[in-house]
Amino acid sequence: METKMQHYPQSTAAQQMLTEHFSLEEFQRSSTATLHGIDNTVPTEYIPTLVQLCRTVLEPLRQFAGRPIVISSGYRSNALNVKVGGVYASQHTLGEAADISLPQTPYTSWKDGKAHTDLETAYKWFDFIKENTNFDQLILETRNGLDYWIHVSCRKNSMKNRHQVLHINQSQP
Ligand SMILES: [Zn+2]
Repeated sequence: METKMQHYPQSTAAQQMLTEHFSLEEFQRSSTATLHGIDNTVPTEYIPTLVQLCRTVLEPLRQFAGRPIVISSGYRSNALNVKVGGVYASQHTLGEAADISLPQTPYTSWKDGKAHTDLETAYKWFDFIKENTNFDQLILETRNGLDYWIHVSCRKNSMKNRHQVLHINQSQP
């Protein structure tokens, strides 16, 4: 009888918790990477930087929000960063940045019948990070003026954090 060998080295490593509520997998999963066969494994040297981002910003935000925080884009290998159109040398490629999904309001609230960002909660989270954490860059971003996400980064050397706050609306000319 043939025995099927089952190995799960990647998933086992990915289940590694960086902090109490955030796993390594949450920072390396990417539907774009999967779709295009791009390896988006976080290099070991960047793991302490991700842990710092979790401890400094994401865990305090989770406690403030009182609900799980969803990372829509964490680490990006250079190949993935190019594929998603990220800026050159993006902090995502260094394990210094994360994009945070924001809660949505019910679809009935919007004329197009779709669910979009609950801006009241978005600004609460944004202001919490701004006023309570040691971040490098904090950006409220949108492409269509309806769906927003928060980009936040912490430098590997936290002494170099710039505390830069930006709003980027790519729908504006
Ligand atoms: Zn980002």
